[in-house]
Amino acid sequence: MTEIIQAAQTYLLPTYARPNFVLERGEGVYLYDTTGRRYLDFVAGIAVNALGYGDAEVIETLVAQAQKLLHVSNLYHTEPSIALAKRLISLSPAFARVFFTNSGAEAVEAAIKLARKYAREQYGEGKTTFVAFENSFHGRTMGALALTAREKYRSPFMPLMPNVRFAAFNDANSLETAMGDDVCALIIEPVQGEGGLQVASNEFLNCCRTLCDKHQALLLADEIQCGLGRTGTLWAYEQTQIQPDLLTTAKPLAGGLPLGALLTTQAVANVIHPGDHGTTFGGGPLVTAVAEVVLRRISTPTFLAHIQAMSRYFEEALQRLALSKPAQIKELRGKGLMRGFQINGSAAIIREKAQDLGLLVATAGEDVIRLLPPLIIQPEQIDEALEKFQEIL
Ligand SMILES: *Cc1c(COP(=O)(O)O)cnc(C)c1O
Repeated sequence: MTEIIQAAQTYLLPTYARPNFVLERGEGVYLYDTTGRRYLDFVAGIAVNALGYGDAEVIETLVAQAQKLLHVSNLYHTEPSIALAKRLISLSPAFARVFFTNSGAEAVEAAIKLARKYAREQYGEGKTTFVAFENSFHGRTMGALALTAREKYRSPFMPLMPNVRFAAFNDANSLETAMGDDVCALIIEPVQGEGGLQVASNEFLNCCRTLCDKHQALLLADEIQCGLGRTGTLWAYEQTQIQPDLLTTAKPLAGGLPLGALLTTQAVANVIHPGDHGTTFGGGPLVTAVAEVVLRRISTPTFLAHIQAMSRYFEEALQRLALSKPAQIKELRGKGLMRGFQINGSAAIIREKAQDLGLLVATAGEDVIRLLPPLIIQPEQIDEALEKFQEIL
């Protein structure tokens, strides 16, 4: 194990500060390291491993598709991506068309390009500004980064894409000031992920829609982290009155394989023609065959009902924890199976202590613990995690 970690420190670009164990295999909601130590996983690959580890149907589909065809490029038709697009659209009545990508950031990039082209064709030059929110996270590529608020992520890489304004989240006045007729799109995470698990209120989302309509701007819901069942409905926006014009999804879409997608309305899709945008790998047969299984499973009423039940259980357990630790826990945050709490002190230290007790958790900023269990989580496992927090706090 130490040899592997030393090699990582020698050869990998140090973009992550990883703990001193090496993960080797997973089963259900548990991971095992190379020494055989077990971890209860409340990170799930950062909201990726919705069906946990070792799902039989996922593996079977992966093997069967690998034997048939891995890749032919988007120059040709293949069945899995078309079947997946059809299922995504039939489950998402607000949208008409899909563009597949390899990651979340690439789905955001596609949305940026489409918003620019749509605005140019509909309204002429000059309508090129994007509005995003404080504490937002939309990815690490230059366009997506320009829409990401955190200074630490942005400043070393300036200059970024120009014409981006930031508004305060859940603050209608601030948004009204930021919006204008030069805006081509407003991008919002209905539940902020990396930025600290803030939930957009229904009134605020209504305000986003109204201001977009007033200024003829597209509304883009970034559901890369909060979508695909995580808050109890397929898309988080479904629990509100709004309909976005664009939606980005990625993390859990292919059950651990890299896949993202941009969903658009027909009106927006109409400005796109062959050659306008593309990708070599995006939506290849292997990843989309697996995603078909993941999407079919997550979107069943029984599975969504399970998420809703676990979400209530999780919320109540967290409320009990917060009541018993008033000095340590400042505020409960999040929604569905995307929850956490703000603590008095350093979230990184709590995360390390949890690791020592065999529980993997994520952070969001300096002082928020972020909990993203696989969606197949059971009450006993929520209890197990919360007992460990009792001990740590
Ligand atoms: C993770 C994330 C992204 C970026 O996705 P990548 O696959 O890491 O490029 C964008 N938006 C949100 C809300 C995310 O959580």
